[in-house]
Amino acid sequence: MSGLGATHFLQVISCVRDQHRPEMVLLAMLACGLAAGKAMSLMPLAVSARGATRRRQQRGWCLLAGLMLGFGGWAAHFITILGYDSGYVAGYSLTMTAASLAVGVVGSQVALWFAVRSRSLVGRASAALMLSAGLAAMHYTGMAALRVPALLRWDWHLVAASVLLPVMLLHPALYIALRARRNLQVFAATVLVSSAVLVLHFTGTAALSFIPSHISSDRGISVPQEALAAWLSVASLVIMTVSAFAHQLRERSHAARQLGERQFSMLVKGTSDYAICMLDRSARVAQWNAGGLSLIGYDEDEAMGLPFARFFTDEDRAAGRPALAIAEAEANGIAKGQWLCVRRDGSHFWAHGTVEILCDEDGVVIGYSLITRDITEIKRAQDALAAKTDQMDTALEHMSQGLCLFDAEERLVFANRAFYAIWNIPEDRCQPGTTLSQLAYAGFFSTEYRPAETLDMIRKSVARAQASGGNPTWNLDFSEDLVLAVSERPVPGGGWIATFEDITRQRRSEAKIAHMAMHDALTGLPNRARFYLGLDEMIAQGAQTGEKVAVVAIDLDRFKEINDTFGHASGDRLLRTLAERFILTRRDGESIARLGGDEFAAAVRFTRRSELNDFIARIQGCITAPVPAPFDDGGQPLLVGASLGIAVCPQHGTTRETLLNNADLAMYRAKATLGEAVCFFEAGMDESARERRQLANDLRQAAARGELSLLYQPQRSLRTGTLAGYEALLRWHHPRRGLVPPDEFIPIAEETGEIIPLGEWVLRQACAEARTWPGEEKVAVNLSAVQFLQPDLVEMVRAILLETGLPARRLELEITETAIIHDKLRALHCLRGIKAMGVSVAIDDFGTGYSSLNTLPSFPFDKIKIDKSFLLKSEASAQARAIIRAVLALGRSLDIPVLAEGIETEGQLRVLEAEGCDEGQGYYFGRPARAPSLEGAEAAEGG
Ligand code: C2E
Ligand code: CA
Ligand code: CA
Repeated sequence: MSGLGATHFLQVISCVRDQHRPEMVLLAMLACGLAAGKAMSLMPLAVSARGATRRRQQRGWCLLAGLMLGFGGWAAHFITILGYDSGYVAGYSLTMTAASLAVGVVGSQVALWFAVRSRSLVGRASAALMLSAGLAAMHYTGMAALRVPALLRWDWHLVAASVLLPVMLLHPALYIALRARRNLQVFAATVLVSSAVLVLHFTGTAALSFIPSHISSDRGISVPQEALAAWLSVASLVIMTVSAFAHQLRERSHAARQLGERQFSMLVKGTSDYAICMLDRSARVAQWNAGGLSLIGYDEDEAMGLPFARFFTDEDRAAGRPALAIAEAEANGIAKGQWLCVRRDGSHFWAHGTVEILCDEDGVVIGYSLITRDITEIKRAQDALAAKTDQMDTALEHMSQGLCLFDAEERLVFANRAFYAIWNIPEDRCQPGTTLSQLAYAGFFSTEYRPAETLDMIRKSVARAQASGGNPTWNLDFSEDLVLAVSERPVPGGGWIATFEDITRQRRSEAKIAHMAMHDALTGLPNRARFYLGLDEMIAQGAQTGEKVAVVAIDLDRFKEINDTFGHASGDRLLRTLAERFILTRRDGESIARLGGDEFAAAVRFTRRSELNDFIARIQGCITAPVPAPFDDGGQPLLVGASLGIAVCPQHGTTRETLLNNADLAMYRAKATLGEAVCFFEAGMDESARERRQLANDLRQAAARGELSLLYQPQRSLRTGTLAGYEALLRWHHPRRGLVPPDEFIPIAEETGEIIPLGEWVLRQACAEARTWPGEEKVAVNLSAVQFLQPDLVEMVRAILLETGLPARRLELEITETAIIHDKLRALHCLRGIKAMGVSVAIDDFGTGYSSLNTLPSFPFDKIKIDKSFLLKSEASAQARAIIRAVLALGRSLDIPVLAEGIETEGQLRVLEAEGCDEGQGYYFGRPARAPSLEGAEAAEGG
C-alpha cells in the first residue's frame, strides 16, 4: 500500500465537488458551526470555574459542550450524507444512526473534559486526538448505518488521514477556546472545529467506494431518507434549544462573574489603607487603587505607567532595591520588605511592601501585584521600643550588681557584665542556656565558692522566694574576702531573676566599726561596752554552772604623775605595753578591758580561790614589771603600781552594776590603805562611800556655820633653838562626827572644788590671827595643788595681805610637788609673782613625789620640808636615813634651808642635829595649838 498522495487529495476534492450537493454542504456547515460555536463558547467557563464546586461546574460545562458538539457533528454528517450522491443509498439503519449520535456526543464530552482537566501541550494534543477519534467514530458509525446494495471498500490511507488531519485543526482550536476571552477567539476556535468536522467528513467519505452488489448489508429496521431529513430537523431544533439554553447559562454565569469581578475590583480600588496596584511585566503601574492616592499621592491617571522604582528614595534606587524586590518576587513568587516610600510631594513614609508575581493560567508571568502599607507609626513605636531596650541593656550592663535571669528549667537566659565579674566567670564559658548546676560544677565557681553548698543554698532561696512571692536578701559568706548579698525574685512562667552584690568591703568596714565600737582605740583592749557584755555573759554562765565570777577594778597609781613628768607619749606607751601584756596573759574565761584613762577592769570565772589568786598575780605581774624606755631613747624605765579592788559573784552581788560598784569601792580602799595593793570588797565599804558623799555636802556649809578653826604648830631653828614660826593647820568640828581630820576632808574638798573658798578662808584667817600675835613669827599656810592652779592666786594673796595688814615677809606658803609639775612654766611664773611680794615659799612633803630631785633646782624655793614619814621611819630604816641625808645635802648644795617634819623624840632631834638640819617641827616641840601665845598650854591639841 502506497502512502497518502496527490491521488488521495484529488479523490477528496472530487468527492466534495462531484458527490455533494453544495447547498447541503452549506447547511451542514451552518448546523455544525452553530453547535461548535456554542460548545467553544462554553470552554472558557469550564476553565475558569472556581470554588468548591469547581469540578462539578467543569463537568457540567463539558457535558453540555460535548452534547452540542456531538449533536452538531452528527447533524452536519447526516445533512451532507443527505446530499451525498453515491447513487446507491437506499436507507439508514436505525440502530447505527442512533449509535452514531451517541458515539459523537460521548466522545466529544470525554475529549473536552480531558482538555479542560489537563492543559499541557501533550494533554491538549491527546484531547484533540480523542476528539478527532470520537468524531471519526461517529462518522464511520454513521457510514455504517447506510443501507446500500453494494459492497463498501475503504481506502485505509484516507481513513487514517480522516482521523489525523482534524487533529491539526482541533489542537489549536482547543488551545484558543480554553483561554478565549473575546468572541473573536471563540469564533476562531469555532471555525477550526467546524473545519475539522468537515475535513473529517470529506476525507472519510472520500475513503469510501462502492462495489455494486445485491447483498444488503443490514437486516434491521431501516429509516427512509425522508424520515432522516425529519430527524435532522428535530436534531437541529434540539441544537437550537440546547444552544439557547447554554447561551443563557453562559450569559448568567458570565454576568455573575463579571459582577463578582467588578465588586472585587471596586473593593480593591476603593481600599484606601493599602496602596494596591498592578505592575506590568516591566514593573510599571497598570492598575492603581484609592489607597495609592491617599498613601502615595498619585491619582489613577497620574500613576498609570509610572515605574515601580519611582516610589523608592534616590539612595534605595541607587542601591538597586526596586530591582532586587522584583528579582526576589520572580525567584520566590513573593518579596516582602520595608522601605522608605516617596510620595508624590516628595515626602517620605515607612512602608511595608509585598511584591507578588502574577501569572496567567499557563504560568506565564504577566506582571506583579504591589501592596503597600504605611508602617511609619509602627516603625516609630518599634524604634522607640528598640531605643528603650537599648537603654535598658546599657543600664543593666553598667549596674554594679550582678544580675541574671534563669528560666523554669534553671537555664541561664541572661546575665550582665557585673555578674560575670563578681563570679569571676569568663563570659564565653557561660552563655545563655548553661544550667545552674553546670555553672556550679563545671568549675565556674572556684573552689572557695563551694559549688555543692552554694547550689543548694541558691535553690533553697529560690524555692523560698517562689513560695513567699517576695525577694528577701541573704548573704553568701564565702570568706573574709568574699561576701555576696543575694536576692532572688520569681518571674511569671517559672524561673527567677537573681541579683548578686559584692558586699565584702561593706562587711569589712562594718566589722571594723563593730570592732571600734567595742574596743579601745589606744590599746586595742575591749572597751567598757564590750566588757559589760562579756561580764553579763559570765554572770549568766556562772549562774548555770555554779562557778563564781570575780570582777577586778584596777587603777594605776601615780599614772597622772608619769603623764605629767614624761609626757603623754610615754603615758600612752605605758598603757599600750600593759595592754599587750594583758592580752598575752589572758586565758579562756578571763577578760581584761580598759574603761578609760588609767582605769582598767578584769573579770574571771573560777571555782577555787587559787585560780582567782593566780589571775590577780598575773595582772599584778603585768603592771609592776618595769616598762623599758624606747629603744633609741636612753631614758629611764617607767615603773608603775596599781590598786586592785575585787568583788565576787555571788557573795558580793549578783548583778553587773553592784559587782562593778563594789569592786570600785574595794579599789578605793586599796588606794587609801598604805601598803595594800589588793582589796576584796567587804560589807561596809559602800557605807563609807556614802559617808564620803555626805561629808562633801556638809563641808560646803562648814565655814558659814563656824565649824572651822585653825591650830598652829611651832617650827624651831635647830641651830639656835629659837622659834621660827607656826604652821597653820585646819580643823573641822563636825556637829555630829566631832573632829574630822584634814587628811580625810581635804581630799574631798579638792575633789569637789570646795578647796578654793576653803583655802581662801584659811589664808585670811591665818593672816588676820598672825597679825594679832605679840611676836613677829612667820605663819606657814598650806596651799593645795588645786588652789595653785587658780589664775588669780597671786592677786588673791596680795589682796588678803592688804586686807589683814600682815607684812608679806611674815607669810610662808607651803606647796607640794604635784602643784608645780602640771605646768612647770606657769608654776614658775606664779612662784615668782608670790616671791616678788616678799612672801616665801616652802616645798612640802618633799621626797614622796616622783620627781623631787629632778625639779627642785629649777624652782626658787625658800625652804625644803622633808616629809614626816622619813623621820618616823628614820630610827628603824637605813634607807629613810639615807634619803634624809641626801635631801640635806641637796639643800646645802642649793643653799636652801631644810626643815624636818614629824620630830617626836629626842633621839630623832639628835640625828638631825648631827646631820646639820636647819629647822624642825613636830610633837617634840609642840602639837598644833589654838594660839602661839598659849603654846604648850591648855589649848594644845591632844595634849
Ligand atoms: P602637813 O602639811 O604635812 O602638816 C603636818 C601634819 O603633821 C599635821 O597633821 C600635824 O599635826 C602632823 N604632825 C606634826 N608633828 C608631828 C609629829 O611629831 N608626829 C606626827 N605623827 N605628826 C605630826 P594635820 O594637822 O592632821 O594635817 C594633815 C595634813 O592636812 C597636812 O599635812 C596638810 O597637808 C593638810 N592640811 C592641814 N591644814 C590644811 C590647810 O589649811 N590647807 C591645806 N591645803 N591643807 C591642810
Ligand atoms: Ca604643811
Ligand atoms: Ca608636810
